[in-house]
Amino acid sequence: MQAEIRAENKQPGPKKKFDVIIIGAGPAGYTAGIYASRAKRETLLISGTLPGGQLMLTTEVENYPGFSDGIMGPELMTTMRKQTERMGTTIIDDEVVNVDFRRKPFKILTNSEEYEADAVIIATGASPRKLGAKGEQEFSARGVSYCATCDGPFFKNQEIIVAGGGDSAMEEAIFLTKFAKNVHVIHRKDKLRASKIMQDRAFENSKIKFHWNSVIEEIRGKEKVNQVTIKNVSTNQQEMMDVGGLFVAIGHEPNTKLFKGQIELDEQGYIVLKNNTRTSIEGIFAAGDVHDHRYRQAITAAGFGCMAAIDVDKYLSENSRK
Ligand code: NDP
Repeated sequence: MQAEIRAENKQPGPKKKFDVIIIGAGPAGYTAGIYASRAKRETLLISGTLPGGQLMLTTEVENYPGFSDGIMGPELMTTMRKQTERMGTTIIDDEVVNVDFRRKPFKILTNSEEYEADAVIIATGASPRKLGAKGEQEFSARGVSYCATCDGPFFKNQEIIVAGGGDSAMEEAIFLTKFAKNVHVIHRKDKLRASKIMQDRAFENSKIKFHWNSVIEEIRGKEKVNQVTIKNVSTNQQEMMDVGGLFVAIGHEPNTKLFKGQIELDEQGYIVLKNNTRTSIEGIFAAGDVHDHRYRQAITAAGFGCMAAIDVDKYLSENSRK
């Protein structure tokens, strides 16, 4: 009897071959899934270690159109996931550990399965570089942020720190002066890496104070950040600063380690696009922060996901006629 019940309830094994496999579950990946499934392509999305991507680490999102009162980052991503599933995309919470793009069908190996696809959309995103300071992890999304555009408005009239000396740090510092009482740029050297024009803009802004040759040692607080210890690396002197928030802007790292040696990357490791969302390999497409280090917004990543799925649909149609 038991065996019969088992046989009746037995689910078919997971499908191993798909028209398109999307790697990554941020706004780019989910949007690509919605469009690919609506185009009637059998679509698998492999979500990776952080389903939802960077927005799972943020609080309120006020700049994603369609939510007049804002929406919490994790809620936005859960909603996108549901919509993607409703359209017919199969979503698997697994990590891709290897890919073989040398011949078709392309092979994608996860921790538990090997899958094949006629086309692949890489939407693995980028990760903000971490300072490695004590308390950074603990206070992430509780005063420590990696995106001024996302979180700046929550720090009105507060003392804020920006860590870094590149264009991103200057851009974030200038943007944050709209809200903050003062913005303190903490930079490990005595000169900035940022372009001259960005430096000039930052130096001209009376709300921005520079702390040279300085590193952040520790971030403290109760529910949220309220104090940061800074060390001057020339004098070894420590200083405690009372602040409401800390923005880390020391660069991003694209999540492309898996694809190194198989598709063309630029010197910073971002995927190089050839023609719209096509990569150096025919049949492999990319969408979102994994190739875009300029805009890096949820809405632009979603837009690229839509573009990649439309490009894939066209590519599959053209190839089925050959
Ligand atoms: P960058 O790599 O240019 O700069 C990173 C900054 O962070 C550097 O000042 C670096 O210090 C510092 N840094 C790196 N690691 C650490 C660490 N562990 N602790 C403390 N400080 C650290 O990254 P960006 O994100 O600023 O820029 C990336 C690219 O995007 C660049 O090509 C930039 O020009 C471009 N960009 C352009 C913009 C624009 O034109 N408006 C806006 C934003 C970015 P150090 O100087 O000592 O190496």
